[in-house]
Amino acid sequence: MIDVPVLIVGGGPVGLTASIYLSHFGIPSLLVERHPGTAILPKARGLNARTMEMYRQIGLEAPIRAVAMPARFGQMILWSESLAGAEIKRLQPGRGTGANQVLSVAANCGCSQDLLEPVLRQRAETAGPGQLRFHTELTRLDLSPDGARAVLQDAMGGRDEVRARYVIAADGAQSRIRAQLGIERRGERDVYDSVNIHLLADLRPWVDERPAALYLVEQPELRGTFMTINGTDRWGFLVTSLSHYGFTPEQFTPEFSAEIVRRAVGVPALDIEVLGVGAWKASALVAERYRDGPVFLAGDAAHEMPPTGGFGLNTGVQDAHNLAWKLAAVLHGQAGEALLDTYDAERRPVGEAVTRSSLLNALSMGRTSRQAEPVLPRKEFLNEIGLIFGARYVSAAVLPDGQALPAGDPVQDYTPSATPGCRAPHAWVQQAGAKVSTLDLLGREFVLLTAPQGSAWREAAAALPAPRIHSVVIDGDDPEATTGWQALYDIDADGAVLVRPDGHVAWRSRSGAGNDGAAVLSAALDAVLCRSAAGSAR
Ligand SMILES: Cc1cc2nc3c(=O)[nH]c(=O)nc-3n(C[C@H](O)[C@H](O)[C@H](O)COP(=O)(O)OP(=O)(O)OC[C@H]3O[C@@H](n4cnc5c(N)ncnc54)[C@H](O)[C@@H]3O)c2cc1C
Repeated sequence: MIDVPVLIVGGGPVGLTASIYLSHFGIPSLLVERHPGTAILPKARGLNARTMEMYRQIGLEAPIRAVAMPARFGQMILWSESLAGAEIKRLQPGRGTGANQVLSVAANCGCSQDLLEPVLRQRAETAGPGQLRFHTELTRLDLSPDGARAVLQDAMGGRDEVRARYVIAADGAQSRIRAQLGIERRGERDVYDSVNIHLLADLRPWVDERPAALYLVEQPELRGTFMTINGTDRWGFLVTSLSHYGFTPEQFTPEFSAEIVRRAVGVPALDIEVLGVGAWKASALVAERYRDGPVFLAGDAAHEMPPTGGFGLNTGVQDAHNLAWKLAAVLHGQAGEALLDTYDAERRPVGEAVTRSSLLNALSMGRTSRQAEPVLPRKEFLNEIGLIFGARYVSAAVLPDGQALPAGDPVQDYTPSATPGCRAPHAWVQQAGAKVSTLDLLGREFVLLTAPQGSAWREAAAALPAPRIHSVVIDGDDPEATTGWQALYDIDADGAVLVRPDGHVAWRSRSGAGNDGAAVLSAALDAVLCRSAAGSAR
């Protein structure tokens, strides 16, 4: 019998990210993945800026960018009758504009899933040696009040039993764990069907002068999208709304797939090698609950959405980020079990919002019927700055301070704010003689951001028992910053902001600590960690 605090089922991007973060927070885990290796099809490519901020904080930004597509391809998407034919429209995604890039220290990144996953796997293996088992399937899961017992079967016929306190079900859209628990999903099933063709072909003559992340092809008999992988010879091609155009997935042999790609390029003699073909159906479904006892659904197991908007993977890895520090705090004995309920309270509304938006994008692009004319997307498509940065958590793990957020469209609008529950905003500041982003000061522990005049809050933090609050003194604003960090965070010079390990604001005091700073901060931490009394987690 193997005993482990957390069993992770599924070695896709979400399971791998959960493994990395649990190691980061000092919790051993065991990840099982039934396939022998990581993804072989490109699938997701768009890592949004919030995801890149997250990976930056654990030193993964550079290795991911090293395998990503050249950044110049991220500035545009383009419609045409064929790649070599008449151009219909160009669009600059709002996410990539300079105005929006000042919102973050980490720009978005186009990295196909088959290149991302090996980077994640390598980090997970380094951070937790022996904790990943590929070619191993979870075949049975029994739950009890104190955790779960699982049976694992490996490809060599080996069988193991595992006892785990908690289980992360990152087992994808068809999650058997979700089905076993009887968790229903709400939304729309099988909105449209598609095949994903992974291919080698030198498309430089048609893309070099007009680099784009997506090249959408609109023909009366074929609609599809070239997805840029390296910008030269490796591409993904999605045939969309398959059945509406009279296709069936079974038709897509390598020969037929190559023929369809030639039609989309508009060059009948083009040399193409088809590397793989995957059929799939786009659905917009969200689980009615993300937690059942010791089991937490994460990623596609919790929310399945059309790829129009590029949110599936991003939302999933951000689930893992939200869940990992909470599991760690409970397992380290620093938080009450109720903290784990805030995972559902915080992440399910996000899953619902991005799934709805991705569906509306797909509908606006005419994905659910045959189109006589090109159909261009609604204005929100790839302008979802609000969904990327603007999630404001409302749960027991946040202490509200009464400030309302400015009104705006939650999909497209984002106003940086340190109101409790929001992502701590990015600002360039001076710290210990260096120019840094506020986001680079966050990540492992609870962090108390203060100016030099905030010494009373720092002393209060130093007096508290575990978990340690890491106090940071921000010396001042970067000389080139347009808005000072205290104005952005809306605190006075002697105020303080407490940021959770996932970068969301837990608590804020606009002014100084007074005489009872230690008691105030202690009560705040007790509340946020769902502890009934100081120092007591149960
Ligand atoms: C064409 C396409 C384009 C996309 N584009 C984007 C994009 O631009 N941006 C974006 O964010 N998302 C995009 N997505 C979505 C993205 O691919 C998914 O959201 C992502 O793969 C979900 O990750 P996951 O880890 O939750 O699930 P998965 O990647 O499905 O991984 C689940 C894993 O669990 C394993 N598993 C299941 N059951 C068991 C078991 N019993 N035992 C052991 N292992 C098990 C499976 O083998 C699988 O490897 C796209 C998807 C498609 C199809």
